[in-house]
Amino acid sequence: MTAWQIATIGLGANLGDPVDQIERALEAIDSLPLCQVLAVSGLYANPPIGPQDQPDYVNAVAEIGTTLTPEALLRALKGIERAAGRSYIRHWGERVLDLDILAFGDREITTPELTIPHPEIAKRHFVLAPWLEIRPEARLPDGSRLADCLEEVSDHPLRFLRLPRWQRQGVGPPIEPGVEALSQRADMPDSSGPPDSRSPS
Ligand code: ADP
Ligand code: MG
Repeated sequence: MTAWQIATIGLGANLGDPVDQIERALEAIDSLPLCQVLAVSGLYANPPIGPQDQPDYVNAVAEIGTTLTPEALLRALKGIERAAGRSYIRHWGERVLDLDILAFGDREITTPELTIPHPEIAKRHFVLAPWLEIRPEARLPDGSRLADCLEEVSDHPLRFLRLPRWQRQGVGPPIEPGVEALSQRADMPDSSGPPDSRSPS
């Protein structure tokens, strides 16, 4: 467990029923111990950036509040990908579900498992546009404004599909509820509780 942070998650899918898989992934993320979805962008249709002989993607961006460490969050997200039936097909190839940690507070992490902020953010219209929709003033830890990156990528076609089905359940305003709102959740220990007592294995 770590101090409460806002993490930004990129969601993508292009096999099966991509919209449904993204909706279910949002519910699964919100159900993780020590995680709460705070805001979700619209869902966007987006041509593939890797191999072109694959279906279009559906992409969205969500902000969560969490007291998980970045490494524990990555493990939990990989668990959700596996549960959705993801298997490796090819680099940048088709997938049932892809969950990337785009940012984790203002942390900068480079390990073999984790690069945060995600290195492709500034190049990806399907990341920048939905992220700016929920956080117009978003910046990377180096201070660069995501809004300034958007012009460079806006020749990449992106089509708004619809708002997500996901709705936040009655714990205050949609962004940055703070520790108080998170601690209202049954699975969120209050700050006086024993550390790690409810962390996932
Ligand atoms: P991609 O998302 O680039 O298409 P994958 O989803 O197959 O690729 O992930 C490959 C590996 O990338 C994962 O096993 C994970 O350890 C690593 N990785 C590095 N940084 C991140 C990050 N910020 N978010 C998610 N995965 C990451
Ligand atoms: Mg990924």
